[in-house]
Amino acid sequence: MHNDALCNFWTSTLGERPPARPRLTAHLQADVAIVGAGFTGLWTAYYLKRLSPALNIVVLEAERVGHGASGRNGGWVVGNLAGLERHIGGLSLDERRLCCGVVADNVDELGGVLAREGIDADFHKGGAIYAAARYRDQVAIQRGYLQHLHDLGHRETDCCWLDAGQLAEKARFRDGYGGIYHRQVATVNPARLVTGLAECAERLGVTIHEHSRAEILERRKVSTGEGSVEAPTIVCATEGYADGFHDFKRHVLPVQSLVVATEPLSESVWQEIGMAERPAFSDASRLINYGHRTADGRIVFGARGSYRLGARSKADQAIGEAAMRMRRDLLVDLLPALEGVRITHGWGGSLGLSRNFRPHAILDRRHGLATAGGYAGEGVAASHLFGRTLADMILERDTELARMPWAFADASHRQLIKRWEIEPLRWLAAQAITFSYAGEEALMRRGKPLPLIKPALQRMNDYFASVIE
Ligand SMILES: Cc1cc2nc3c(=O)[nH]c(=O)nc-3n(C[C@H](O)[C@H](O)[C@H](O)COP(=O)(O)OP(=O)(O)OC[C@H]3O[C@@H](n4cnc5c(N)ncnc54)[C@H](O)[C@@H]3O)c2cc1C
Repeated sequence: MHNDALCNFWTSTLGERPPARPRLTAHLQADVAIVGAGFTGLWTAYYLKRLSPALNIVVLEAERVGHGASGRNGGWVVGNLAGLERHIGGLSLDERRLCCGVVADNVDELGGVLAREGIDADFHKGGAIYAAARYRDQVAIQRGYLQHLHDLGHRETDCCWLDAGQLAEKARFRDGYGGIYHRQVATVNPARLVTGLAECAERLGVTIHEHSRAEILERRKVSTGEGSVEAPTIVCATEGYADGFHDFKRHVLPVQSLVVATEPLSESVWQEIGMAERPAFSDASRLINYGHRTADGRIVFGARGSYRLGARSKADQAIGEAAMRMRRDLLVDLLPALEGVRITHGWGGSLGLSRNFRPHAILDRRHGLATAGGYAGEGVAASHLFGRTLADMILERDTELARMPWAFADASHRQLIKRWEIEPLRWLAAQAITFSYAGEEALMRRGKPLPLIKPALQRMNDYFASVIE
């Protein structure tokens, strides 16, 4: 029988999962009710309980723990936030440096909690390489990105330039011209992280109900088909999986991302491509690609997100042959030594994209409703930071995290996040942008100067990027 979950390499490492936790069948009172057992919901529960052990916290999960993006992602733990410049662009350099320090240090904080709590999720801090790995034109792109990181306030010791020789010491790509090395990036096995975190939260006294889809959200009450939880604070932690629940999807849309895993590579292949320190890697492309060397010697590689008409989130995990082949070909183009290597797993899921193109942690005190998300594909580390921030805000702790520019108290998600445009406008815009990005990449591949077309396309794509990043 086809087991959809086993298409996902991470899930396949979990072994046989225990039976599902009981569904919610009663009418409960709690201090905090959390909808969604992914990283955001579970980190919020964890920090609430650590800070205030007497709290009664109930988590409702529509499927199983980690059903959403948290159990399916590429495993990068990034010391940055997608859309950070939208939060801090107008601040002074000192303030920006402080914010960048918080997001960079969050990687070590996350690793520290895993070690303290005994959560074995293969956390490994090998940094990340943002390479110019295929075309000479990519050098300027990556140099510009490094400047952007420094201008934003990231520490020069965290993000530095590697010339071709230094890059080759870390990883050997097809045409490694150089790249950025970002020290504050780690990798994890996300399925182990999310299941280990759920068990840890339960040990602290958090109650989790699986197969308990929240259907109705009223003031300070959330109901499934069979039960309900009344609580002064309800946290909506559904990111790219909010389908049909309240109006969150009007503000945070699901975008698909697909990933493949190779078989474990032989020692001779590793000798050829390097990566002895197990760095995460990515190659300059607006169409996004990212990978890393896993603990058991495979490469997990994701690329080319896409948007589905009507903003449907991806419930199943399996992806088609063509989607796997396309990612395999791109991986081999980056690392030709992988020619002939077998792809053993291919899966996908949905991440959440906010209409403001920046992530948020929001507590609407008046309505007792909190939410965090909009991580735009960089949610593994961010959900730890934002879950912790929500816990501080809910407990009214005046902390540095609660004062960060992405933390909003006393306003609603409706006031703070714009609504997405209606279809087919969203779909048409997504198609146009993808087409244009692909055109730019095709020109880079061609490698010849095209005096009018190339700069015009680049300017248009810079504009798209400034609008959506
Ligand atoms: C393929 C892929 C690759 C990615 N790669 C990376 C990466 O390498 N690095 C990175 O930083 N980020 C990555 N991301 C993004 C990252 O995984 C997410 O941003 C993050 O996991 C979001 O966590 P979350 O808890 O907010 O949401 P999710 O993990 O999506 O959890 C939401 C949960 O809510 C549940 N739910 C939804 N509706 C209801 C309801 N009505 N009632 C009860 N439960 C409900 C869902 O079942 C789900 O379990 C990737 C995402 C994808 C899809």
